[in-house]
Amino acid sequence: MIPDNIRILRDRISKKCLESSRDPGEIKIIAVSKNFGINEINSAFNEGLRDFGENRAQELIPKFEELGNKINWHFIGHLQRNKVRFAVKAAEYIHSVDSLLIASEINRLAAMNDKVQKILLQMKTSDEETKSGIEYESELLDIAGYCREFKNVDLVGLMTIAPFTDDIEKIKSSFRYLRNLRNELNEKGFSGINELSMGMTLDFETAIEEGATMLRIGSAIFGERIYN
Ligand SMILES: *Cc1c(COP(=O)(O)O)cnc(C)c1O
Repeated sequence: MIPDNIRILRDRISKKCLESSRDPGEIKIIAVSKNFGINEINSAFNEGLRDFGENRAQELIPKFEELGNKINWHFIGHLQRNKVRFAVKAAEYIHSVDSLLIASEINRLAAMNDKVQKILLQMKTSDEETKSGIEYESELLDIAGYCREFKNVDLVGLMTIAPFTDDIEKIKSSFRYLRNLRNELNEKGFSGINELSMGMTLDFETAIEEGATMLRIGSAIFGERIYN
């Protein structure tokens, strides 16, 4: 089932890339394996996927200990300060940095681990109350400025979660806003900020149209999640 799902997903990505004149080679699939186990991860790994996303430290660490660095781990969940050390230990990328406090804690712990931690700043791009992320552009600029000074943090991009809605225009404008913010950072002289982590199972095609470079896909690969 997972191999079929991945084949179908890749076809849909290729088709959308063709339609929107994008190169599929510049789009990374991050298989969001939260709530799924080692067997499912291995099954996706055997289809060639190497990037996996987890949103909770308690789940990431045992999987990291079992599978190690053959996988590029992405931390995509809300990060509390006391969990930063787990994310820094295991993750190649931390997508969900939404405050200066967390960014500086990452810098501190990455230095202790002799590591330069790749991060993305998570932006709130819709007025949905439930979504976390940085709210104001001024705050984004401020945090990005600090990140430039941090020796053990490499700010590589921006991340967002679109509103949960059927209204495709709202989803589009959320993604477009993120892309504009990235472009603006580049124009202001921030170099190396290229990644746009946006698009999930229900909206990844729209995200591709709007310039996503990292898709975070769970259910389209692993099936419906069962929470217990
Ligand atoms: C769970 C999750 C995803 C994947 O969701 P699907 O709808 O299953 O593709 C992507 N991003 C974040 C931050 C998540 O928590």
